[in-house]
Amino acid sequence: MKPGLKRGFDQKVFVNRSLTLENIKCYGFDMDYTLAVYKSPDYESLGFELIRDRMVSIGYPHELLRYTYDPSFPTRGLVIDTTYGNLLKVDSNGNILVCSHGFCFLKGEDIHKYYPNKFIQRDDTDRFYILNTLFNLSETYIYACLADFFTKCTRYTNLLKDTMDFIHDTGTLKERTIKNLEKYVKKDPNIRVLLSRIKEVAKVFLATNSDYGYTEAIMKYLLEDYIKTGNPKQSWRSFFDLVVVDTRKPLFFAEGTVLRQVDTNTGKLRIGTYTGDLQHGTVYSGGSSDIVCDLLDVKGKDILYVGDHIFGDILKSKKRQGWKTFLVVPELSKELQVWEEKKNLFEELKRLDVFLAEFYKHMDSGSRECPDIRDIQTRMKVLTYRMDMSYGQMGSLLRSGSRQTLFASQLIRYADLYSSSFINLLHYPFNYLFMAPPVLMPHELAAQNSADFASSELSAVTKTED
Ligand code: ATP
Ligand code: MG
Repeated sequence: MKPGLKRGFDQKVFVNRSLTLENIKCYGFDMDYTLAVYKSPDYESLGFELIRDRMVSIGYPHELLRYTYDPSFPTRGLVIDTTYGNLLKVDSNGNILVCSHGFCFLKGEDIHKYYPNKFIQRDDTDRFYILNTLFNLSETYIYACLADFFTKCTRYTNLLKDTMDFIHDTGTLKERTIKNLEKYVKKDPNIRVLLSRIKEVAKVFLATNSDYGYTEAIMKYLLEDYIKTGNPKQSWRSFFDLVVVDTRKPLFFAEGTVLRQVDTNTGKLRIGTYTGDLQHGTVYSGGSSDIVCDLLDVKGKDILYVGDHIFGDILKSKKRQGWKTFLVVPELSKELQVWEEKKNLFEELKRLDVFLAEFYKHMDSGSRECPDIRDIQTRMKVLTYRMDMSYGQMGSLLRSGSRQTLFASQLIRYADLYSSSFINLLHYPFNYLFMAPPVLMPHELAAQNSADFASSELSAVTKTED
């Protein structure tokens, strides 16, 4: 990039905690939705249709076939309440920001009927299931369709809870993806460029929950399938010092599973546990993050792990192993675009906040008057709704009005770096110092603002004195 040229925001890497890239001795990558980005909404539509058709084939009502995928409905990170079939958008404490039953959005009073405190206990993981990944978007939509259908149709009750299991069987989806890679997977020659450059300065590994057959097909397509340049063909495996498939993250970051070697000719696992040293080009199955550190001879703090799964990739690698983390948030480009276009709405929300504070400015615990703030509250609701709708029916991945989602709070807490794509690392030298912007706590912010206010008053005074 030419000096002085401003980089577009969707090419930037954002920083929650400062990180010196020079200290990173090892880069780890997840595959699905990190190295391999699936094309939206074709891919989600395919996922949705496969689940829908399968459900009908095992006995669900054929009327379900009338539903088609609508990408404007779901947002990632929603929580499904398997008791009522509601979809919930929640903040970090489980407070409900948005609630829908089927395609019907519930109002405050109705939400209270289901959830007396407008709150859910998130630890009840049997009942509440977080739809963390982009793979889950088609699932999110299926839940909405089922709730919509069963609410209107009295023939069925309680089927929702049983649907969970086979929704997670992605076998057919993978088969169909491999058959039409051009349609479903984004190809970018820069992936090769960046991985080669990284390999020159650090160790590189791939750790994916996918199986070997699928990984091989995807990685070949991403890294090998280019018009021959006269160079001998470089195997996709040569871009990595270590490849681990079937990792079963998040378990991988805890006790893990046994490590086996994969026979790359047959795709079959070798019998017995693997105990030897690292051999270049070998592919392993299972294992754990501890084994990866041993095989590559690196410490957790020297690893930058790049993934898209806020829980399985980022939260667990940070919380259990202290790895440095880079979260890929493909939605970020759209989030930034809407933010740019609609930030006036947010500014107005902030102004209303100040306005509200003004009402109470001259009151204290002895005051008996009760200011009427209903108009302001209504205005705030309207603004929040308008902001949400600019992102989609379920609103932004990261906020609802001025409140942050669970996803946003986990992103801030567990991802050191984040960006719309890992490819954006291409724009930074390997000795770069990613500096986190200083974040003020509310009391510091208040003190800061009053200091700014005082100094602006002072400068106004000096001006009049001039
Ligand atoms: P902490 O005390 O550090 O805040 P916790 O272990 O109490 O964390 P919570 O954040 O309260 O966990 O989450 C409750 C449960 O939900 C835990 O079992 C946690 O592992 C799980 N959990 C949290 N975030 C996610 C997520 N994004 N996806 C799936 N499960 C999650
Ligand atoms: Mg992934």
